[in-house]
Amino acid sequence: MNIKIADLEFEPLISAETILARTKEIAAQLNIDYADKAPIFVGVLNGCFMFMADLLRQINIPCEVAFTKLSSYHGGITTTRRIRDDFDLLVDITNRHVVLVEDIVDTGNTLDYLVAKLSHRKPASITVCALLLKPDAIEYPVEELKHVAFNIPNEFVIGYGLDYLEMGRNLDGIYKRVV
Ligand code: 5GP
Repeated sequence: MNIKIADLEFEPLISAETILARTKEIAAQLNIDYADKAPIFVGVLNGCFMFMADLLRQINIPCEVAFTKLSSYHGGITTTRRIRDDFDLLVDITNRHVVLVEDIVDTGNTLDYLVAKLSHRKPASITVCALLLKPDAIEYPVEELKHVAFNIPNEFVIGYGLDYLEMGRNLDGIYKRVV
């Protein structure tokens, strides 16, 4: 079923069942990779909240959970490139293994900024796990991006944590803009 939010219409792209199945696969790999590393999973708010919750429910090794918040879209459907640091990561990550959990990597600008910022704090490692990647939009390749649940076309999407004008985050699947 299509969804209308303000002036835009959206159609289904990835179902809740497909997201969950893929999330389980990624979690299974992380459970192996980080078995004895007590990683800190760091969610990048707001968009990560559903993916983070579903992913962490499948993680069965000792781990910590923390959040940081950045924004770069400021309400529209294209990135502004101006990154706002809304709140900093408050845990000490020195010598710790960090797994960043992102909603979507578009140009890679936000992720590039965040990885550089956290690297200064001397973690043992940083790995990024993203729900979505738009391979055709990437301008800042980030080598720490090791897990991507889905590659999607270079189109604006909402749902499963992602918003348009702060709406649509509650949808249990991912929808793309009808153009
Ligand atoms: P980047 O810095 O990689 O260009 O953009 C990353 C941020 O832009 C994401 O964390 C997300 O907040 C926002 N973003 C990028 N593409 C989309 C999209 O298709 N839909 C929504 N809702 N947000 C997006």
